[in-house]
Amino acid sequence: MLKFDVVVIGAGAAGMMCAIQAGRRRRQVALIDHATVIGRKILISGGGRCNFTNINAGPDNYVSSNQHFAKSALSRYLPSDFIDMVENHRIAYHEKKLGQLFCDGSAKQIVDMLVKECEKEGVKFFKGRVVKEVMKDDGYVIHTNNESLSCQSLVIATGGLSIPQIGATGFGYSIARQFDIKVVETAPALDGFNFSSADLSKFKELTGVSVDSIVSVKKAAFRENILFTHTGLSGPASLQASLYWKKGDSISINIAPEVDPVAYFNDRFSGGSNKEVKNILAEIIPRRLAEILCSMENIKGNISELSEAKLRSLTQRLGNWQITPQGTVGYKKAEVTRGGVDTNSLSSQTMEAKQVPGLYFIGEVVDVTGQLGGYNFQWAWASGYAAGTAV
Ligand SMILES: Cc1cc2nc3c(=O)[nH]c(=O)nc-3n(C[C@H](O)[C@H](O)[C@H](O)COP(=O)(O)OP(=O)(O)OC[C@H]3O[C@@H](n4cnc5c(N)ncnc54)[C@H](O)[C@@H]3O)c2cc1C
Repeated sequence: MLKFDVVVIGAGAAGMMCAIQAGRRRRQVALIDHATVIGRKILISGGGRCNFTNINAGPDNYVSSNQHFAKSALSRYLPSDFIDMVENHRIAYHEKKLGQLFCDGSAKQIVDMLVKECEKEGVKFFKGRVVKEVMKDDGYVIHTNNESLSCQSLVIATGGLSIPQIGATGFGYSIARQFDIKVVETAPALDGFNFSSADLSKFKELTGVSVDSIVSVKKAAFRENILFTHTGLSGPASLQASLYWKKGDSISINIAPEVDPVAYFNDRFSGGSNKEVKNILAEIIPRRLAEILCSMENIKGNISELSEAKLRSLTQRLGNWQITPQGTVGYKKAEVTRGGVDTNSLSSQTMEAKQVPGLYFIGEVVDVTGQLGGYNFQWAWASGYAAGTAV
């Protein structure tokens, strides 16, 4: 039996941060992962450049059944703390937009930095291990396919269900259930939408069209691009909205956020314009979209020939296009998993399970899910740090 103070299962973003922090406190740490390649999600993140944090990250950027839970951890490990580590490792980075920080080079630099920090703190890696059993006695015993480890503190950092093709599993939820800890229903998120088959046949001509829009779901609204795909909607604003969407909700899209469509067309009417409707539209939305919209609405000819009913339908589609998606795209494409280990069962200071001393949950496996833009990594760092200072 190999003895450690702390065993972390899951050598991803949160697990490595926790191991580093615990190692700095002179704890003997083992880091177990079933993968042989460390940090695969980090490697594919941010299009290969890892959007490693967001300088504006705060509790409002997260969805959870308990909206206050993330505050404590987020306030004790700030984006600037992670930026300090990145700068100490001389990794060049830039702000792409909206506070999102990306590596200039590659996401591998972030993985290499975390592995180096782990090694510096004497963290022992156990890669390619299948955890067969977790048992509690005085502390915890973990049986893998290769060895058994014992520890006082066990940290579960196995992430969510997104992208099963690179090794995501529901392991963390199973451990929670093993110890009678509630798991809030999970769903793929930050994955965009699939249209119903009726909408799919109506909107198929729009495939490939991208437009600056505001997408709203209930009270959440995001202004960025949307992209019509052959199955539904993608693009950053759609991905963001999918975090807030539940089955049966409709979404509202404003595809001309710079103008008030009714005022815009009234102005053209009163100005006595005799331009073609599609040309008037093309002044505020991409021409291809203008042409397709006109053909979808069966609008031909000049604005002076436009009936009131058609004008109403057109302005409605521009400013408040209501669509009820059939679903979101699913775990194969989702950047994150919404839901997870119930925050009411965990200490917001340390991430320790309130009823199970010595058992901790961190990162995406917890019911705290960030918006698109570096927020999910910031939660992984912050929750990993919180547990790492306590184990
Ligand atoms: C395509 C993509 C792009 C993304 N881009 C960004 C981005 O740019 N910015 C951002 O903030 N977020 C991004 N995310 C989200 C971000 O990657 C995750 O939220 C973050 O990695 C979660 O960290 P974690 O440590 O909790 O889990 P993970 O990083 O997923 O790590 C979990 C670890 O546990 C291991 N594991 C799983 N099951 C087991 C098991 N049964 N036994 C042993 N080990 C196991 C896995 O192999 C993995 O190493 C992206 C996600 C995806 C899918």
